[in-house]
Amino acid sequence: MTDCIFCKIIAGEIPSYRIYEDERVYAFLDVAEDADGHTLVVPKRHCSGLIDCDGESLADTVHAVQKLCAHYIRDCGFEGANVLNFTGECAGQTVFHLHFHIIPRKTGDGVYSFPRFKKCTRTLAEMQKILALG
Ligand code: 5GP
Ligand code: ZN
Repeated sequence: MTDCIFCKIIAGEIPSYRIYEDERVYAFLDVAEDADGHTLVVPKRHCSGLIDCDGESLADTVHAVQKLCAHYIRDCGFEGANVLNFTGECAGQTVFHLHFHIIPRKTGDGVYSFPRFKKCTRTLAEMQKILALG
């Protein structure tokens, strides 16, 4: 897709710090420089996000996320990782090409990577009625 920043990164038109690449997936460091090793993992075939992505691209991307988390923990001195995806503008998605964030973690690193929630507005039973699928 011509006006997509991640497609341009994959094509090498915008430079990036590449971490991993195969036929269908590209992984690179997030330019935010907010956490050591903050990595973005994206399918090479453009799709705008989690909902519109074809199953094969999604599976390939998640498989690469697994591979990279294992590498960071087994080989690179990290102890764990947070994996994040923001789906939709209201959820904080700013780049509309599917991506997963990997935040490599160490005990005591001070990184706060879980959303800061307020109290929910509905009971669990109400939410079950609204959300239950099948
Ligand atoms: P989102 O909020 O859509 O889940 O995350 C988009 C991420 O892309 C942000 O963390 C942002 O820092 C990163 N990003 C945006 N533009 C660029 C870029 O040109 N290069 C790299 N490496 N990361 C980018
Ligand atoms: Zn794209």
